Amino acid sequence: MKINFNDLKSQQDKIRQDINQRMQTVLQHGKYIMGPEVYELEEKLEEYTDRKHCITCSSGTDALLMSLMALNIGPGDRVITSPFTFIATAEVIQLVGARPHFVDIDADTYNLDPAKLNMLLDQLEKEDPGSVKAVIAVNIFGQPADYQKLEELSQTYNFTIIEDAAQSFGATYHQKTSCNLTSVGVTSFFPSKPLGCYGDGGAIFCDDDEMAEILKSIRVHGRGENKYDNVRTGLNGRLNTLQAAVLLEKIRIFDQELEQRNQVAAYYHQHLNDLVETPNIKPDRTSAWAQYAIRSSDRSLIKQALARHQIPANIYYPKPLHLQGAFEQLNYQKGDFPVSEDTSQTILSLPFSPYLEKAQQDFIIEKLAEVYQAKVV
Ligand SMILES: *Cc1c(COP(=O)(O)O)cnc(C)c1O
Repeated sequence: MKINFNDLKSQQDKIRQDINQRMQTVLQHGKYIMGPEVYELEEKLEEYTDRKHCITCSSGTDALLMSLMALNIGPGDRVITSPFTFIATAEVIQLVGARPHFVDIDADTYNLDPAKLNMLLDQLEKEDPGSVKAVIAVNIFGQPADYQKLEELSQTYNFTIIEDAAQSFGATYHQKTSCNLTSVGVTSFFPSKPLGCYGDGGAIFCDDDEMAEILKSIRVHGRGENKYDNVRTGLNGRLNTLQAAVLLEKIRIFDQELEQRNQVAAYYHQHLNDLVETPNIKPDRTSAWAQYAIRSSDRSLIKQALARHQIPANIYYPKPLHLQGAFEQLNYQKGDFPVSEDTSQTILSLPFSPYLEKAQQDFIIEKLAEVYQAKVV
């Protein structure tokens, strides 16, 4: 039985004609940069997230970078985030010249632990008052972080929360849609994300008119009145029109896919919950299921057993960011963030997509369960 880790091909089979048509339209009008599809997509995304502004851009990484730039964060500033995330979340902090700080995660959700964040904020407020300018909260694997607690802390300590929704487009928290859970939300359209295009892409969401204008300026080299008036440092951060065309077709089936994602997740949960630690989605939120990640001290046995049957399973993330060479100068040590470190050793993402069939899931579940039957004997 052939099982893909993320079955993008089945999705393409379903909408190939519509995507082809959309792409043909772009080839005909020839507006490859900032063509009408880009603006149409931004409107659709504003509608979907119930936000005033959506500024599409070149990637999720650039969305994070541009939001830090728009908030004027740079040398002398501190930005706090999770060590259990993709490198992009933290590398952009160093890229603008600010100092990253990590805070350990909650063992249930793998998202920032607000109590530990509170402790770090207390400490930094004593050492260097007012220096924490932002907290980047990551909605890891698709489940939103605890924004209510984060908002309370941001009131006390006066920082901006940036929602890294690269994995959570379509998720909800207290009935609000991800990308609209705090003042600034960013997402990624990397192909394997819940809403992905056929290349790189991203978007930034906000309600503030001035911030939206600044982001649009940063997106095209700090543009002012016109193309050759440059009023701030910016970058080439545009989403290309062909990717917008692809996304316009993908967003049409997105809610249906989300429904299917929930069904696939529920089926895994039903059959694996007694064997391994399955995802713990809090009752006040829903996940977009970027990953279906189980946790087990038998991870290597499970991974090997699945591999013997050509079932792919991936580790996100094998090394927490505080132990990465890119952050060496911050002098973090092994043991600093025990929950993140332990999770890195035990987490395993199973094949997942809205198109995973019951028979395929049964096969995966059966092969995983065999590990435990073998153990008993
Ligand atoms: C994928 C991802 C990003 C970066 O998005 P790109 O579009 O690949 O640049 C940032 N943060 C998280 C949590 C991600 O998963």
